[in-house]
Amino acid sequence: MKIGILSRNRRLYSTRRLIEAAEERGHEVRVLDVLRCYMNITSHRPSMHYRGENLEPLDAVIPRIGASVTFYGTAVLRQFEMMGVYPLNESVAISRSRDKLRSLQLLSRKGIGLPVTGFASKPDDIQDLIKMVGGAPLVIKLLEGTQGIGVVLAETRKAAESVIESFLGLKASVLVQEYIKEAGGADIRCLVVDGKVVASMKRQAKDGEFRSNIHRGGTASLIKITPEERSTAVRAAKTMGLNVCGVDILRSAHGPLVMEVNSSPGLEGIEQATGKDVAGLIITFMEKNAKAGKTRTRGRG
Ligand code: ADP
Ligand code: MG
Repeated sequence: MKIGILSRNRRLYSTRRLIEAAEERGHEVRVLDVLRCYMNITSHRPSMHYRGENLEPLDAVIPRIGASVTFYGTAVLRQFEMMGVYPLNESVAISRSRDKLRSLQLLSRKGIGLPVTGFASKPDDIQDLIKMVGGAPLVIKLLEGTQGIGVVLAETRKAAESVIESFLGLKASVLVQEYIKEAGGADIRCLVVDGKVVASMKRQAKDGEFRSNIHRGGTASLIKITPEERSTAVRAAKTMGLNVCGVDILRSAHGPLVMEVNSSPGLEGIEQATGKDVAGLIITFMEKNAKAGKTRTRGRG
């Protein structure tokens, strides 16, 4: 197969591993920087250009689109879908998962366990918003945050009030969430490929920190997940419509709660913590599924 990897940097661990895994299996790989792709969207013959050349047809693309380029990145991916190129994850599913609020609403509709969550843009009554999600301690999140930036723990009602007020003062919408204290600064990342959890790891926040993000100093280790956690991760992936994703779960006193679903999960932490060849499993999935025009949406939606 001819596989395109949409990635801004071929030296990133995940990109390197995907190239390696694809080449090992005899595929031809081309890394494309999404921001450098430009396209002709005239009727009937959608095409994609790259550095002055009209790209010859690819069989499949693997989007590794960073949060900061979601808008343009998903437009490029949609163009590939219109051209009949099979995407590892579809553009609509990626857009869906990048919107924290939309994701939580979709997951809640399917009855998947979630922390009690409120969302507000211009509430007249912040006290009521806080009461609605069970009072302090509370986690307050900016909608567009990643890597733990924009996630704050407010231990008291007063602290919660002032953090919410200052976020709203900056014209940002906020997500207010019940603090799952019993998770002890840890969460579980389940890597789902084709409806199965193929690897899972525990991420533990460093001392004095509640955010387990590796970028915030968290550490990864191997973990055995329960059947309930496994089925929660699989259902979350299916709800989002993602073939490959990382589902982040908090272990709460009342069962597994999904925190977020990541459509471009990093491979470094999970491959190192588990010793699994996740990149290989992703390429194998592509081999089984990539047929021309076999996207569900063909760029619609
Ligand atoms: P980001 O998208 O920036 O990674 P997350 O929503 O994943 O934001 O939050 C970052 C980290 O903060 C999580 O990995 C988790 O360790 C911790 N965290 C987030 N929400 C909660 C919560 N409701 N209760 C306990 N810990 C939480
Ligand atoms: Mg996160």
